[in-house]
Amino acid sequence: MYLHLLGTATSQGVPVIGCRCVACTSTDPRDQRLRTAAMLCVGDARLAIDAGPDFRAQMLATGTDRLDGILLTHEHNDHTAGIDDVRPFCFMQRIDMPVYCLPRVATELRERFAYAFTDYPGVPKLDVREMTFGDQLRVDGLSVELLRVDHGKLPIFGFRAGDLAYLTDVKRLPEATLDRLQNLGTLVISCLNYHGTHSHLSVDEALDYIARIAPRRAVLFHLSHRLGPHADFAARLPDGVELGFDGMKLTLR
Ligand SMILES: [Zn+2]
Ligand SMILES: [Zn+2]
Ligand SMILES: [Zn+2]
Repeated sequence: MYLHLLGTATSQGVPVIGCRCVACTSTDPRDQRLRTAAMLCVGDARLAIDAGPDFRAQMLATGTDRLDGILLTHEHNDHTAGIDDVRPFCFMQRIDMPVYCLPRVATELRERFAYAFTDYPGVPKLDVREMTFGDQLRVDGLSVELLRVDHGKLPIFGFRAGDLAYLTDVKRLPEATLDRLQNLGTLVISCLNYHGTHSHLSVDEALDYIARIAPRRAVLFHLSHRLGPHADFAARLPDGVELGFDGMKLTLR
């Protein structure tokens, strides 16, 4: 069982189009970051976590030819814009793809991808399943607990699967979520840049949460190019805290 990080950048990706900064011009492959996404792999089962603008490239890069479902953490474009590319899976597997999301996100999907909910031939077929905080998703026998993360004013999904937790687009973690993060092996948590914003943690804020949750291992992701090249930034992190990169595999128990 493992979580495969398929993208570790914030919404513009790294490199950013037209940017000549040291991160964007780095030749280190770890500085090539697609938009944030992941895949939970349990036996032969595959649950995609988000379907952003790089979804197609991420499916090709991992050689994925079958999906059991997609969990959408929230409705922002960098997490949903690639959902049209679920079509090959629908055709090959002859299914409507299960998409697990909050009711608010389901409403957005039906508006923004209205054509997917018509009978027009060749459209992506989405089987939207509304979920809420505290619900459990089953992935080949593994229970995935959906947790609330506050992304600024927006409550969104994070999750815990076994001894791993995945929390993207974090600004604040409610007490009820912190209670579910005890005895954690691996914590994957977002941080945007050194300053943070109204809806994203800064590096120091993410490190504060890591110290409080005290996992054995922590991995930062959803990164801005402004954090600099991978090697420089990673060297400044405390023991037990790593910098995520595209393709990183995190085992869980
Ligand atoms: Zn840059
Ligand atoms: Zn977001
Ligand atoms: Zn995001």
